[in-house]
Amino acid sequence: MLIRSTAALAFLLTGAASAERAADPLTRPIAVDRAAEWLAPRAPVRVFGNTYLVGFGGLSVALIDTGKGLILIDGALPQAAPAILVNVKRLGFRPRDIRYILSTEPHFDHAGGLAALARDTGAVVVASSRGAAGLRSGRLAIDDPQHGYDGRFPPVARVRVIGDGEVLRLGTVAVTARATPGHTLGSMTWTWQSCAAGRCKAVVFASSLNPVSADSYRYTARSNQAIVAGYRRSYATMRDIPCDILITAHADQSGSSGRFTFGPHACETYAERSRRRLVARIRSEKGSQR
Ligand SMILES: [Zn+2]
Repeated sequence: MLIRSTAALAFLLTGAASAERAADPLTRPIAVDRAAEWLAPRAPVRVFGNTYLVGFGGLSVALIDTGKGLILIDGALPQAAPAILVNVKRLGFRPRDIRYILSTEPHFDHAGGLAALARDTGAVVVASSRGAAGLRSGRLAIDDPQHGYDGRFPPVARVRVIGDGEVLRLGTVAVTARATPGHTLGSMTWTWQSCAAGRCKAVVFASSLNPVSADSYRYTARSNQAIVAGYRRSYATMRDIPCDILITAHADQSGSSGRFTFGPHACETYAERSRRRLVARIRSEKGSQR
């Protein structure tokens, strides 16, 4: 009833196009408390060279112009997909030129829009093996620290799997996949070179590393040690990764107030903040067991 009256209101206010969108199962809004903050509108911007941001105040979506097609990274919430494509157009690009959409993690806030974006652009979604499994199911994995939450999102039918260290090439750009497990076991960070006026910078689009879990989850449980080991490996990766410009999946986790951060220690600092939170969390779990 509520949905029907909302659809009717949308029709009355803004016409048939909006009503059609409201009926689209792939962009049907996921109503969460932070949706308005996450999807606060932001003008699309050039970060450096061929790298742009086409996302929102609280959720990053990157666009790379390879000269032979576009690469998008992450898809925010389902309801965000149309606004992402509007931002792509505002930069003078064509959504149908998006060839690949890279995914950082199979959670609704970063992957919810992928099914609609893939359908509307014809692009191939690319993720880690565990990331792809999550995207195809549209559900949280049993070993996901947030498994206790609902967290469903529109499944992505076709996903290409890429391994840690593998390189995806398109036009002048080579994007390297770097496994950064922990927040989810399938989390992937993406890195590439952006050049302008003869200067090149290593850009890193980092997956979420924050140790967030459902209430009953215990990082100290024997069965969850793969997650803790994953985090340790990710901290080492982020310490060593060439990192001149850091874009974090949630902008407010980069450690600066801007939408991206200039290095050289940005990635290391990002990982260190996560490490401290995980250590504190593990300490408090051990404390409460006494
Ligand atoms: Zn997440």
